[in-house]
Amino acid sequence: MPTKHVAVIGGGAAGFFSAITCAEAYPDAQVTIFEKSPKVLSKVRISGGGRCNVTHSCFDPKELATKYPRGSRELRGAFHKWQPLDTINWFQEKGVELKTEEDGRMFPTTDDSQTIIHCLLSSAQKCGIIVRTKTSVKTANRTNRNGFSITDSNNEEYDVTHLIIATGGTASPQKSIAVQLGHTLTQLAPSLFTFNIKDPLIDGLAGLSVSSAQTLFPPTKLKQSGPMLITHWGLSGPAILKLSAWGARDFADRDYAFSFNVNWLGGEMSFERVKELMIQTKKLSSKKLTTTLSPFDLPKRFWLRLLDICSIPSKQWAQVSNTEINAIANKITRSEFRTDGKSVNKDEFVTCGGVSLKEINFKTMQSKLIPNLYFAGEALDIDGITGGFNFQAAWTTGRIAGLSCLAE
Ligand SMILES: Cc1cc2nc3c(=O)[nH]c(=O)nc-3n(C[C@H](O)[C@H](O)[C@H](O)COP(=O)(O)OP(=O)(O)OC[C@H]3O[C@@H](n4cnc5c(N)ncnc54)[C@H](O)[C@@H]3O)c2cc1C
Repeated sequence: MPTKHVAVIGGGAAGFFSAITCAEAYPDAQVTIFEKSPKVLSKVRISGGGRCNVTHSCFDPKELATKYPRGSRELRGAFHKWQPLDTINWFQEKGVELKTEEDGRMFPTTDDSQTIIHCLLSSAQKCGIIVRTKTSVKTANRTNRNGFSITDSNNEEYDVTHLIIATGGTASPQKSIAVQLGHTLTQLAPSLFTFNIKDPLIDGLAGLSVSSAQTLFPPTKLKQSGPMLITHWGLSGPAILKLSAWGARDFADRDYAFSFNVNWLGGEMSFERVKELMIQTKKLSSKKLTTTLSPFDLPKRFWLRLLDICSIPSKQWAQVSNTEINAIANKITRSEFRTDGKSVNKDEFVTCGGVSLKEINFKTMQSKLIPNLYFAGEALDIDGITGGFNFQAAWTTGRIAGLSCLAE
């Protein structure tokens, strides 16, 4: 009979990675994953639009840590132990090749999240991990031998020597096993969501995108850049998702009713520069029509909408007044939008908030409050921006927890 029994609560990316790490490093230990739903790794399955954005090609721990609105400081050290290069090598050793897209996101070459699931499941099976699905852990209590007694939804009780909590984003603090064991949760709020907006500038233009916009939230001076997409319900794309991540708690406090600004050409294109380009067009292409010649790299239908919103009819550039040039430059660089609530992004949605990082030793992922208790993944107050950073945090914290939990 094994003398060490590690229970991993949660069969997601972090749970599997910590369990596999532990079982591979300590073959004599018994490792069991408890998963409340009928299927494990369900977020991996739907992630990245079914392709699973496994990690990001950012190999400098310091730079990588800046991608996390929560957990940045703590992850910096952790990334020295396990970073995207390690993730790539790990999957490669198990026969899974990853490829990098232009924006740095990394996917399996099969473009199929099932490849990652298969890899994790077969690795778990090879090292004898027991996976109990449809088994929700309801309670966890400390025993007097520094172990834990856990009870599942079928009222079965298990005595284990070590516990790894990898339960993902917490929906309700009351049901949190971490809270039962004395840990505290920071304020919970969604992150990586899109904004519901009704505005004549974007109405009916769903599907149009710009490659490099800047979003600004004046009350906190928060600024984010990246592609932006007009959707049926408002605005989406990295420039919006990143703003939602960095402003997650602020936006929750405002009940998702707030105003923000967009520069449709990105932060480098100032009001003055945009004006200059139009004045140049007025001089050099004076006979051309405003509706057929736009000086900017913007979708044609969007440019026409801008002219319409600024009440500028189709006319030769020579006839465009300074007031009209000012109006267009203002709309392009300082469009103001008011959100009418948030909507969940279909591609990515994570929880901001979780187990307080002050209570965790990031060298081992062990609880500072309770011996033999470890944490991994989104259960912690860690979340990253879109691009593979959330899975990387799961792999890193899972790896450290799995390796250190039995290292005496
Ligand atoms: C639609 C979508 C797409 C995404 N795409 C990407 C992407 O491409 N790249 C990226 O980096 N991130 C992506 N993310 C974020 C990423 O999926 C998460 O950050 C990641 O899955 C967190 O892993 P985890 O193991 O910590 O938590 P989870 O994956 O949430 O796993 C936790 C598991 O614990 C189980 N559980 C909870 N409580 C109990 C209990 N008491 N007993 C037993 N089991 C329990 C849950 O059922 C769940 O299966 C996406 C998220 C979503 C929703």
